[in-house]
Amino acid sequence: MVEHLQHYGVITSKKVSEVMETIDRACFVPDGTPPYVDSPMAIGYNATISAPHMHATCLQLLEENLKPGMHALDIGSGTGYLTACFALMVGPQGRAVGVEHIPELVVSSIQNIEKSAAAPLLKEGSLSVHVGDGRKGWPEFAPYDAIHVGAAAPEIPQALIDQLKPGGRMVIPVGNIFQDLKVVDKNQDGSLSIWSETSVRYVPLTSRDAQLRGW
Ligand code: SAH
Repeated sequence: MVEHLQHYGVITSKKVSEVMETIDRACFVPDGTPPYVDSPMAIGYNATISAPHMHATCLQLLEENLKPGMHALDIGSGTGYLTACFALMVGPQGRAVGVEHIPELVVSSIQNIEKSAAAPLLKEGSLSVHVGDGRKGWPEFAPYDAIHVGAAAPEIPQALIDQLKPGGRMVIPVGNIFQDLKVVDKNQDGSLSIWSETSVRYVPLTSRDAQLRGW
């Protein structure tokens, strides 16, 4: 599947191919779901695991902010797939933090990570997944070099901007029905440079009740 994404020009980074080959998607999809198909898959609770090409795109956009020792935050961590990829990239001296508001998904994501190549990082503590409202970020390990948001926000939450390090980058889908994947760079003087990478379709970044009701 990684070769296929390289062939079609989705993955151009060697590092991202290595990470996606090391973190096996089969550990993260529900039993009976085909792991190596390039589309999103339902994981229960009105949530999905993103398609591999979206995981690849976000990893490539964040690659320079996922160097060893850096801090990364994954909001709406779902299955834990990207959190595990982030942990591998920032390594044991770094920090990869997942925040997900469905407690059952946090439990299953930890089980998924335990089956994957990121298991030692979870054990050592450089990788952690927490139950929480991602719109508030996770201040404990801020500021972050990289922030990824895996659900679409009507607007960029201020708490996430505040928790981004100067020089840091956030990738976040913004919009309701029509969404843009926005790249938010925080400059050294604290100002923001924002651009749209592509049009996307993500589940909403919302309250737990609204999500379980089906919005
Ligand atoms: N990157 C994940 C995507 C999961 S889908 C993966 O590929 O597995 C988006 C996730 O965002 C869902 O799991 C959903 O429960 C979560 N979510 C939505 N709103 C949230 C909020 N306010 N706080 C935390 N998580 C949220």
